[in-house]
Amino acid sequence: MNKENLNHILKANFGFEHFRPNQEDIIRSAITGNDTLAIMPTGGGKSICFQLPALVFDKLTIVISPLIALMKDQVDGLKANGIKADFINSTKSESDHQRLVHEITAGTLKLLYIAPESLTYIDHLIQEQYISMIAIDEAHCISSWGHDFRPAYTQLGYLKQRLPNTPVLALTATADKATREDIVKQLNLKNPNRFVSSFNRPNLYSEVRPGQERIKQIKTFISRRKGESGIIYCLSRKSTERLAEKLNDSGVNALAYHAGLPADVRENAQEAFINDEVEVMCATIAFGMGIDKSNVRWVIHYNLPKNIEGYYQEIGRAGRDGLDSDTLLFYSFADVMQLRKFAENTSNESLQLAKLDRMQQFAESFNCRRKALLSYFGESLEEDCGNCDNCKSPPALFDGTVIAQKALSAIKRLREAETIQNIVDFLRGSSNAYIFSRGYQHLKTYGVGKDVSWKDWTQYMVQLLNQGYCEIAFHDGNKIKLTSLSEQVLFHGKKVTLAHNVDKTVSHQPKKKQ
Ligand code: ADP
Ligand code: ZN
Repeated sequence: MNKENLNHILKANFGFEHFRPNQEDIIRSAITGNDTLAIMPTGGGKSICFQLPALVFDKLTIVISPLIALMKDQVDGLKANGIKADFINSTKSESDHQRLVHEITAGTLKLLYIAPESLTYIDHLIQEQYISMIAIDEAHCISSWGHDFRPAYTQLGYLKQRLPNTPVLALTATADKATREDIVKQLNLKNPNRFVSSFNRPNLYSEVRPGQERIKQIKTFISRRKGESGIIYCLSRKSTERLAEKLNDSGVNALAYHAGLPADVRENAQEAFINDEVEVMCATIAFGMGIDKSNVRWVIHYNLPKNIEGYYQEIGRAGRDGLDSDTLLFYSFADVMQLRKFAENTSNESLQLAKLDRMQQFAESFNCRRKALLSYFGESLEEDCGNCDNCKSPPALFDGTVIAQKALSAIKRLREAETIQNIVDFLRGSSNAYIFSRGYQHLKTYGVGKDVSWKDWTQYMVQLLNQGYCEIAFHDGNKIKLTSLSEQVLFHGKKVTLAHNVDKTVSHQPKKKQ
């Protein structure tokens, strides 16, 4: 099929003038009968990659998707473009079902959306005489290496065995190298063509701030962006509601959204956001999957996400129209501890903890954020992005050897039995009940760090942890312990570099939007 033909089909059926990067190659790969793996960021335009081939093929294209809630919308959208599409789930009546079976066997239906759990409904139709292609959306769900594992996906490998000559197109927005290989293997793809689109989103400013006085910071942030749509992701359902309430109290038009709300409440909230009737959504990560709103101008993470895939996906909901948009992540140690707790004793604990470590490293990095993010997805950026907090205002480094010596000897004096908070209180010579109850005021290093503020000390402690000068015993009350590097600093004159704790709450002003 030549280029003019494909462009014509694109324009005639979907109304688009040009293909986006990789779309055409993926489509060609599929229609020439190859297995294909397409990695494309959210909003990159994956749907066309199977919808267009479905129109070229003469039999049915099955689209496997975990997002049952979105199937109807997608199908309605296709029907509105005059494309014969439908979906199957348990809500369909027996007569609907009969009609579908008829349309499939007669070869009139082009696209059928179905969740993997529902495949049994059409088991007898899974034959090469009826099916031209199988598209597997959100293909990372098949891998327990990914972040969104769905057990029902693991059965999908049988499709390729049953239909060895039918091309399979696996699509996902999130896949590190290990997950990619796992998808190929588990789906039994045969020498698949692989297409990996760039994950770079130059229009997204990325910033990380310490998670202190978050509500105050958020109010300031929003007051500088009046009338703009934004999403604030929170870890818990409760905090979405609390935050929405606090924002409303201060005159911001905000709603809460989480999976625990009744379906109609959720639907109304979503509609209101899409139609610009409400500016701010305080939501758990349940919000946003498949929401097609191009003018989200900012995304805030109230809490640390549990991995980079999730973070990338969530910030990616900002600025889909390509205009400048801001993303802000609040980073606190308390969140790390909470997330570690969630990960513990899960079936893939070590994987989850490793992913959390990467997330934490990202948040604490002094280098270009975008470089770090893209490198996670196996992509390298030649130059620093110039559009992140670390690029815009590089942290000022200083010789922190004395600070480190004070902190580490405090840890030693306190017998490696105290948390960051208590160590900082000790260093600052606080006269609180806990310190006195332990008699810490009599120890030698008590109060040697009076000249440094509580906030700065806490930051320096985190930096020391990150650089491995001390460590945190997550399984032992978060006590701070010494490491072999501590010895180097305390007894062998090793120099330590720290970054000044700049007040980032004032550094970035939104750009004027045209
Ligand atoms: P994904 O599934 O990768 O998140 P979608 O397939 O939902 O992305 O597409 C995201 C948006 O981009 C949709 O609004 C879609 O209509 C639009 N889109 C896709 N391909 C093109 C194109 N070639 N030209 C213009 N818009 C496109
Ligand atoms: Zn940068």
